[in-house]
Amino acid sequence: MRCPYCGSADNKVTDSRTTDSGDAIRRRRECLSCGERFTTFERLEETPITVIKKGGEREPLDRQKLMAGLLRASVKRHITREQLENLVSDIETDLRNQFKYEVTAKRLGDLVLDRLRELDKVAYIRFASVYKEFQDVDEFTEELEKLQEARVKRRNK
Ligand SMILES: [Zn+2]
Repeated sequence: MRCPYCGSADNKVTDSRTTDSGDAIRRRRECLSCGERFTTFERLEETPITVIKKGGEREPLDRQKLMAGLLRASVKRHITREQLENLVSDIETDLRNQFKYEVTAKRLGDLVLDRLRELDKVAYIRFASVYKEFQDVDEFTEELEKLQEARVKRRNK
């Protein structure tokens, strides 16, 4: 595990405990080169959840991407990274408990928003707008690709 600040691989674990949701271990680490502290999460590999996008494409739920959106929505709010990790874990656990290993992108977004609304109103509103923006970007890109494909086909005739 490399230090996100200086890239050194030398660090020591200062604290280690199970997250509230119980499915991950959170470790506080201290870099032995620069002294910065950072947190790592370790979790069991489980059946991946598949997200069905609007166009019908399937892709595995990208936790990092979801977290990036959530972190962006939570800037300067009193929300910890752990609360957000727990939020995502709760959703995954709920889906798995219902044996729903596939979820539409829209449904997933709604599940996130439901929980975020309880956590923080501002982050909720921000995520809602970011999320809508993403959907639109997707649509926009799809349209653009279709347009280019049509152009290539025409050129090859
Ligand atoms: Zn460092």
